Amino acid sequence: MKTFVHRGQITKVVFGSGTRSRIPEEADALGCRRVLVLCTPDQTDRAGRMADLLGAAAAGTFTGAAPHTPVEVTEKAVAHARSVAADAVLAVGGGSTVGLGKAITARTGLPQLALPTTYAGSEMTPILGETEGGSKTTRRLTDVRPRTVVYDVELTHTLPAAVSVVSGVNAMAHAVEALYARDGDPVAFLMAGEALDALARSLPLIARRPDDVEARADALYGAWLAGTCLGTVGMALHHKVCHVLGGTFGLPHAEIHTVVLPHVVAYNAPAAGEAMARIARALPGDDPADALFDLAGRLGAPRALRDLGMPESGIERAAELVVRDGYWNPRPVERRAVTALLTRAWAGERP
Ligand code: NAD
Repeated sequence: MKTFVHRGQITKVVFGSGTRSRIPEEADALGCRRVLVLCTPDQTDRAGRMADLLGAAAAGTFTGAAPHTPVEVTEKAVAHARSVAADAVLAVGGGSTVGLGKAITARTGLPQLALPTTYAGSEMTPILGETEGGSKTTRRLTDVRPRTVVYDVELTHTLPAAVSVVSGVNAMAHAVEALYARDGDPVAFLMAGEALDALARSLPLIARRPDDVEARADALYGAWLAGTCLGTVGMALHHKVCHVLGGTFGLPHAEIHTVVLPHVVAYNAPAAGEAMARIARALPGDDPADALFDLAGRLGAPRALRDLGMPESGIERAAELVVRDGYWNPRPVERRAVTALLTRAWAGERP
């Protein structure tokens, strides 16, 4: 018998195609009358259309969301939200925009609605990562979860194939670590397995044809489940390594996850048999780490940290940071083994 604790989600989720048209009624259901729409600079037009759709319930747009939620951007956005008397924010975008929404919620208490446009999954988590003075800190704050998440598959059609595949593997990484989480539970395990199945079958189709409607729906469904896993159970070595590499060398988020995942799976394989068996169901092959490495190759995704701009001289520093703060992982985190893992990932070698 397995003893477990399962934490249910409080977020309302609407999933479908064309569902963004429901945003006004979802805002109304939360009692929101002045919604500030958030986006990154390159989704300005889309955010403007959402403000138009909200009509009298819109309080304008803030178009300055940036990767890793810089505190100076948040401060500007909070000042803007106050100046227009916003009573809610609507994040239209990926993890960067949802992150800004969470940072605003943390400072003002304003509720967030989210309309995700990538597969990062931040909209389903209570995790707020922020950068200040070049260093990134992460907190779990239950209240920063968006109240309502509307997944509209149509919005993902514009995500370029190359960005889609790394964003999709980023989602797979949440699912993989949920399979062996210390506080894992049967529901999280089911969601993680289903997420891996959906992403493993859809990403190769999207890489070939980014306008494949069914594959896009499948990938977003997998991303929702994977994000829910990330928000439900604790992550381990993979997320720690990616956090260190992103924070220390400023490497791109989803690409780091794509390169590192096969190597961490190889590292943890001896200590996580049940998880490995489930990954192998989604990605058939003799070895789950090899299957993930081959998948990245087939998708044309990066497989070497050096190709993302990490200096070879950074390997030892990264290993030191990864092992410095003790934390749980199915296999103990040892400095020499982590250095070997990073060396292979840096060079793009098979795990
Ligand atoms: P992103 O939000 O930075 O988006 C990447 C780029 O793609 C941006 O320029 C964006 O404008 C563009 N884009 C997004 N959707 C698009 C679409 N449909 N069509 C065309 N262009 C589009 O990238 P991301 O990978 O979604 O998020 C990364 C950030 O999210 C990182 O800062 C990461 O730390 C954070 N994150 C946080 C959590 C969490 O739980 N807190 C989880 C995952 C990621």
